[in-house]
Amino acid sequence: SRPSYKWQRVLLKVSGEALAGDHQQNIDPKVTMAIAKEVASVTRLGVEVAIVVGGGNIFRGSSWAGSSGLDRSSADYIGMLATVMNAIYLQATMESIGIPTRVQTAFRMSEVAEPYIRRRAVRHLEKGRVVIFAAGTGNPFFTTDTAAALRCAEINAQVVLKATNVDGVFDDDPRHNPDACLLDTLTYQEVTSKDLSVMDMTAITLCQENNIPVVVFNLSKPGNIAKAIKGEKVGTLIGS
Ligand code: UDP
Repeated sequence: SRPSYKWQRVLLKVSGEALAGDHQQNIDPKVTMAIAKEVASVTRLGVEVAIVVGGGNIFRGSSWAGSSGLDRSSADYIGMLATVMNAIYLQATMESIGIPTRVQTAFRMSEVAEPYIRRRAVRHLEKGRVVIFAAGTGNPFFTTDTAAALRCAEINAQVVLKATNVDGVFDDDPRHNPDACLLDTLTYQEVTSKDLSVMDMTAITLCQENNIPVVVFNLSKPGNIAKAIKGEKVGTLIGS
C-alpha cells in the first residue's frame, strides 16, 4: 500500500485555473487565503515550502498564439507576465497573515520582485520563508509545470505537489465517464505511454530523469494542501 512521507522541502505547483476558483474575476481571494492558511500551518511545523504559480487564469500563450499576428514567443512572454500577477497576489495574501514570503522572477523585474537566484532561494527557505517562483522558466515554449519540475530539482525539493481542480489522475475523463476510477499510484512510464494529461511531456520527463515524485491532488478540498505537504495520502502519486 502507498506509504506516507515526511517531506522536508516541497515544491507546490498552483495552476492559474486553481487560483481562479469559481470567482467571476481571474483570482478568487478565498482560494488564495485558503492556500496561505494551509501553507502557514505546515511552515509552522518546519516544512520548507516553495511555490510555482501558473498563469492560465489570465493568459495562456498557446491558445493566443497565431491570433491576429501574435507570434508564439510574444504570447508566451505575456503568459509569463500573468504568472507574476498571480505570484504578487499570493505573496500579499501570505504576508497579510504573517508568513514571510519572497517572489523570485525568472527574468528581471527588480522593482517588483527579486530575480531568481538559486542559492538565495534556498537561503530564504532555510530561514522559514516561503518562496514563490514566478515567470515560469523565463523561456517561451515551456510551461509552469516544467518550471515546477526544474525549480524542484534545482533547490533539492523532494516532491512536486501539483494542486489542481480534480481529485487526481483518473483512468478515464471523469467529466464524461461517471465510472472513471481515481488512480492511487502511477509510474512515469504509465503517464507518458497512456498519454494521461497530468503534465506536459517536458515536465514529466524532467521529473522522471531526476527521480522526483509528483502528487496530483485537488486543492479545492479543505485540508488537502496541508495534507499533501505533510506527506499524507492524497490524490495520485506518480513515481518510478
Ligand atoms: N509560460 C512560458 N514559459 C514558461 C512558463 C509559462 O512561456 O516557462 C507561459 C505560457 O504561455 C503559458 C503561460 O505562461 O501558457 C501560463 O503558464 P501555464 O499555462 O503553465 O499556467 P497554468 O496552466 O499552470 O495556469
